Amino acid sequence: MKFNTRTIHGGQKDTDPAYGSVMTPIYQTSTYKQSTPGGHKGFEYSRSGNPTRSALESLLASIENGKFGLAFGSGLAAIDAVLKLFKPGDEIISTNDLYGGSYRLFTKLFEGLGIKFHFIGMQNADAIEEFINENTKLIWVETPSNPMMSIIDIEAVSKIAKKHEVLLAVDNTFATPYLQLPLDLGADIIMHSATKYLGGHSDVVMGGLVVNDEKLAEKLYFIQKASGAICGPQDCFLVMRGIKTLHLRMQRHCENGEAVANFLRSHPKVDKVFWPGFKNHPNHDIAKKQMKGFGGMLSFSTKENTLESAIRIVENLKVFTLAESLGGVESLAGHPASMTHASIPKEERIKTGVVDSLIRLSVGIEDEEDLIADLEQAIN
Ligand SMILES: *Cc1c(COP(=O)(O)O)cnc(C)c1O
Repeated sequence: MKFNTRTIHGGQKDTDPAYGSVMTPIYQTSTYKQSTPGGHKGFEYSRSGNPTRSALESLLASIENGKFGLAFGSGLAAIDAVLKLFKPGDEIISTNDLYGGSYRLFTKLFEGLGIKFHFIGMQNADAIEEFINENTKLIWVETPSNPMMSIIDIEAVSKIAKKHEVLLAVDNTFATPYLQLPLDLGADIIMHSATKYLGGHSDVVMGGLVVNDEKLAEKLYFIQKASGAICGPQDCFLVMRGIKTLHLRMQRHCENGEAVANFLRSHPKVDKVFWPGFKNHPNHDIAKKQMKGFGGMLSFSTKENTLESAIRIVENLKVFTLAESLGGVESLAGHPASMTHASIPKEERIKTGVVDSLIRLSVGIEDEEDLIADLEQAIN
């Protein structure tokens, strides 16, 4: 089946043998009747497995061209599960321009447990090799990155990972499988904050992982069950419903993203616009090669370039809502320096380009004229 068909039908076969309901039922149960000790129909207890969650997990695997999917209570819970594959002394190389919560989890929790992290720029994949040694176990990539929209060549990084027998994980939250398929490009693990585009309606917090390797899947299933950071069936239902329109929403996010990026670029008060669809974006060629479109995420700075000017703009927006998060049907604006990236030390933040005046937009699927008019009045 092709992608648009899989978003609707992937992993959704016969999920209601009792009545044949077309939608996967919400199995709101913690436990399952056994006919004899151990005699069950595949489910024993909802931490280790729930039919609604199983349906979503197969759907996640299906849309990412993977074999095994796992759902968690949040994106960070999914990352936490990946990091529990490792032990003290192991080393992880990560992109330096990444989601603030991931950075916090890496440095404030797992560094304390003895895992060593190297945060580096990966726009030139060859730069990774000098950080690899016999303790290196994982390369962590976020592309497009947050909030600078840099693009990392997944295929190039995967060649290096394979050469040194290191796992490669890709946070595919921004691109979604509609735009980019990291497993096909050589990644071993895909991570999602399903809170964003997969859910798509800003009404649920959830995380997901997709892998192809059976042994790796078994280890992750064990961690999911043993640590217990699972999500409830109601939330699984909502994310499944969201994914059914992923392809339609992403198409419009891309169109509106392009319109807003072009408007901002031509605005006299705007300084820089970071959007991978621009020909002069430093990684445009890689974006074109590995992505089907350029998405609805972008960021920009103003010529006035002060904290005050950025705050004034985001406070004056009326159609865009000032809020954390992204990927919903509605347009959101954020101020990374004081919101999503506040947990990253200022020197680190500025080094990666997150200046005080930077504004990040998650362009929704409203009418583009209304979005542009809103930005125009707020900037002026
Ligand atoms: C939101 C986000 C996360 C964390 O996911 P939660 O669902 O909020 O725990 C991780 N990576 C990226 C790129 C995100 O945008």
